[in-house]
Amino acid sequence: MCKHILNAQVSIRSPCCRQWFDCAQCHADAQTHTLKQAMEMTFACKKCKKCFRKDMNEFDESDEYCPHCDNHFVIEAVEPKARLEVEGEDVRKDARMLKDERVKAKEGFSIWEDEGEASRLG
Ligand SMILES: [Zn+2]
Ligand SMILES: [Zn+2]
Ligand SMILES: [Zn+2]
Repeated sequence: MCKHILNAQVSIRSPCCRQWFDCAQCHADAQTHTLKQAMEMTFACKKCKKCFRKDMNEFDESDEYCPHCDNHFVIEAVEPKARLEVEGEDVRKDARMLKDERVKAKEGFSIWEDEGEASRLG
């Protein structure tokens, strides 16, 4: 399973070490050599599990679809890392803001404690 592109539609057979990878980053993680760029690439569709070849020199819009099941495999990648970082930052900012507000509220409460209790009793 590729952890870089969550919506990967195909596996790519690397021309250098002839192993299957979901993306170039997966290859970089598993291998020490750089991914070789080839004019003809072999893909395996994740939807129908069939393999097909594409000539990268003549790659156009119609080649973005699996020839077996028409699965559109050239799509905008969903990258989990970038999204989690943004969410994490926001949560931290929110937590800090909430804490500050709570501290201020407590200070305010201690000043008006008597009146608050009095009004509640009354
Ligand atoms: Zn390789
Ligand atoms: Zn990957
Ligand atoms: Zn397919």
